[in-house]
Amino acid sequence: MTTLVADAPVSFPITAGLPPRPAYVTLPETGFEEPLDPVRQEILDLVHRFARDVLRPEGTALDRLTPEEMIAPGSAYWSVIKRHRALGLEAVAEAGLSPGDAVDLASMISEELGWGDSGLAIALGAGGLPRQMATRWGRQDLLDAFPDTLLGSWGITEPTAGSDMLDWERAVGHPSGDFGRPSMIATLKGDKVVLNGQKSAWVSNGVTADFCALYTTFDRGHGREGIVIYVSLNQPGVTRGKPLDKMGQRAVPQGEIFFDNVEVPTRFIAAGPNQYADAVHDILCEANAGMGTLFVGVARAAYEHALAYAHERKQGGVPIIQHQNVRYRLFQMMRRTEAARALARRVARFNALSGQRALHASIASKVTCTQTAFDVASDALQMFGGNGMTKAYPLEKLLRDARAALIEDGCNELLAIKGGSLLVDPGKL
Ligand SMILES: Cc1cc2nc3c(=O)[nH]c(=O)nc-3n(C[C@H](O)[C@H](O)[C@H](O)COP(=O)(O)OP(=O)(O)OC[C@H]3O[C@@H](n4cnc5c(N)ncnc54)[C@H](O)[C@@H]3O)c2cc1C
Repeated sequence: MTTLVADAPVSFPITAGLPPRPAYVTLPETGFEEPLDPVRQEILDLVHRFARDVLRPEGTALDRLTPEEMIAPGSAYWSVIKRHRALGLEAVAEAGLSPGDAVDLASMISEELGWGDSGLAIALGAGGLPRQMATRWGRQDLLDAFPDTLLGSWGITEPTAGSDMLDWERAVGHPSGDFGRPSMIATLKGDKVVLNGQKSAWVSNGVTADFCALYTTFDRGHGREGIVIYVSLNQPGVTRGKPLDKMGQRAVPQGEIFFDNVEVPTRFIAAGPNQYADAVHDILCEANAGMGTLFVGVARAAYEHALAYAHERKQGGVPIIQHQNVRYRLFQMMRRTEAARALARRVARFNALSGQRALHASIASKVTCTQTAFDVASDALQMFGGNGMTKAYPLEKLLRDARAALIEDGCNELLAIKGGSLLVDPGKL
């Protein structure tokens, strides 16, 4: 026990276990993340280089092209798809990782791609989504029929049924609502499914994809039913609309797909009428959670740009980082990004590892992370002052890209009502 004697010279103890405070903590790109094992770090470094050296510059260049130029042969859109395929990320599943490590790595990869360019990341994600779902559902036959050399798409929304197709079980739709006739109908003719009608102009890769995981209304005279069928888009009767000229995520080409008496073998049905609602649930679980991790990358990109700019830009005779409100704003951006990241990763883990897939968890991730991306991009743009408004700087594009995400894969407000409906325990009503 130390006794202190008044007026005696004090000898202060040095406590060996007390760590000195660091002068500066360099946060890893993955945020407040414990160091990764070498296998995951190597894969993540590879994806980061691809995001930095390919997605970011090419996404910026594609953003300035007309939609027609964007999808023309020789456009960087096509080379990005090839270079992404060459990374071989589908093989990550065989890297011998534990299930928890594998799901975390998938979240980090998604964030990196979104950090590079969200439009291209969505094009790559939508391109691979049908195979991802076929893998989940154990449909090797579909994987064989639609190999990874083909570009995929997911067609569910229609001109007359946008939110309505995503709310198949009517968790949000008004009980007295008349939903009218869908824009697209599948019927049965022998061992063929016959497709007539169209999907909306919003199908990602709709104008470029080789095939589509088509979610459509099915009419066999039993009332409202649906099926999921994998359809080649390079066959007679399929035509495409003009590529859409839109505000954000311009690097993902979108446009209508029309079907005129298109016949598809019934063996390409991935979910019949009895499983249709399950298939909508499952793909929304996947897509919404994927939107969450991807748009954490957009928030991070905006925050990093703002942090760098705050050290460069001088006003009031000093770099603006010296101003208190700039530090305050940066902290809020970092805090929000990290909170969104934590949620996105937890949701991905819960859905992969808990034995239950909660759509409200995926929706919580999608709504939180896309809103965070938009808010952080908006704050970052504010920090750039007038420069934020110009194409010479990256912020106006990030803001446009993030804005699209509030609608994509379901308007956030509709998803939130749907999420609330999923909290209702029917057993307690
Ligand atoms: C960048 C991007 C990528 C996309 N990618 C794809 C894709 O790959 N495949 C695909 O099939 N689709 C895709 N979409 C389409 C997207 O899913 C739809 O745009 C979205 O679901 C909304 O549908 P809508 O545009 O028809 O709007 P509407 O459904 O017409 O909604 C209009 C407004 O009404 C509100 N609303 C609608 N219904 C209700 C309700 N019941 N209760 C309360 N409010 C309601 C909505 O919140 C919204 O504010 C994409 C969209 C974007 C922007």
